[in-house]
Amino acid sequence: MSGDGTICIRGNEHSEGPGGVAVGAPVHRGPVLTSAYHLGLPGQEEPGADFYARADNPTWREFEAAVGALEGGPCTVYPSGMAAIAAVLRGFSTPERGVLLPSDGYYVARALADEELVALGIDVAYCATAGDWAEAIATARPGLVMVETPSNPGLEVCDIRAVAEAAHEAGAVLAVDNTTCTPLGQRPLELGADFSLASDTKAIAGHGDVLLGHVAAADPLHAERLRAARTRGGAIAGPMEVWLARRGLETLDLRLARQAENARALALALREHPAVRDVRWPGLADDPSHVPAREQMRRWNGILRFTLPDARAVAEWLDATRLVDSATSFGGLRTSADRRARWGDAVPDGLVRLSCGCEDTEDLLDDVLGALDRLG
Ligand SMILES: *Cc1c(COP(=O)(O)O)cnc(C)c1O
Repeated sequence: MSGDGTICIRGNEHSEGPGGVAVGAPVHRGPVLTSAYHLGLPGQEEPGADFYARADNPTWREFEAAVGALEGGPCTVYPSGMAAIAAVLRGFSTPERGVLLPSDGYYVARALADEELVALGIDVAYCATAGDWAEAIATARPGLVMVETPSNPGLEVCDIRAVAEAAHEAGAVLAVDNTTCTPLGQRPLELGADFSLASDTKAIAGHGDVLLGHVAAADPLHAERLRAARTRGGAIAGPMEVWLARRGLETLDLRLARQAENARALALALREHPAVRDVRWPGLADDPSHVPAREQMRRWNGILRFTLPDARAVAEWLDATRLVDSATSFGGLRTSADRRARWGDAVPDGLVRLSCGCEDTEDLLDDVLGALDRLG
């Protein structure tokens, strides 16, 4: 098995070496944009993987093979992270057994459950990411549990292995929203989860130019159900978007390293600033999430949070920075900040989620701290 950086670049190829590759085959393949494929004449049809692009596509397969190799289970690509979450919530919840979701995770997942699942008669229960999941599972008796760790935006952590055990004991399946970590930072399937899903709009694609998502499944039968539902439902990712994400994935290992380096430097410096409270980055040894995060995460990333006195202070700070975009989303090359109360998250008005990009550490420190020093 190759290392993460190698898999990011080469995908899941097991090429025989130059002798096994057709002369003239492109080293870097482009996106395959055709909707239909030559089928052969009646009587000579060879059933191939490709016949119509709603069902499968060579560009999807390259992306799914690479991400599947990193996650450790067959991967299905979706046109957005929400499409990936919706596929699991719609496909694996039933009115007999409800769902249990994080109360402090990505807010659109809650909206989907509250608006759509409840209308189908499916009970929706919630547990805080850092709360008692075994107790919540015993009380709600769900058929499907989803956790998000570290959570967006609080960066709270739960023990995936322990939640998986409690879920399985109750006859439930466990899905982990792995967006903040990526499979380089955490492998939920190895920790006992049934699904690892993510918004690849964030760090995997990594350049802020595409929306995408995926679900990796531990059980190949679950993966088949997801693929069949995707083909029937017809909401699929465009090959161009998947190709862009495949290209982004090639540098994920490098980008995460710089982002984590920047996050560590900024978290340490922000803690010392008088205008800043409650700096959280799981990589700091005394962060409340550090111990459980260290147990299950494989590396740190560039997402941190901190709190300024109020919304006006956040506005003044953002206005004074040169290198911090005021934007939602995270995991890109450019550092960006999002005041999460704007979206209705139950967090203080001045809470900022900061996604550290790949700029030079010294430049970022100068910019972020200099802008804080200028606050009125
Ligand atoms: C952004 C995000 C999503 C939704 O992904 P989209 O690609 O925007 O649909 C889901 N979960 C988490 C944790 C996210 O940060």
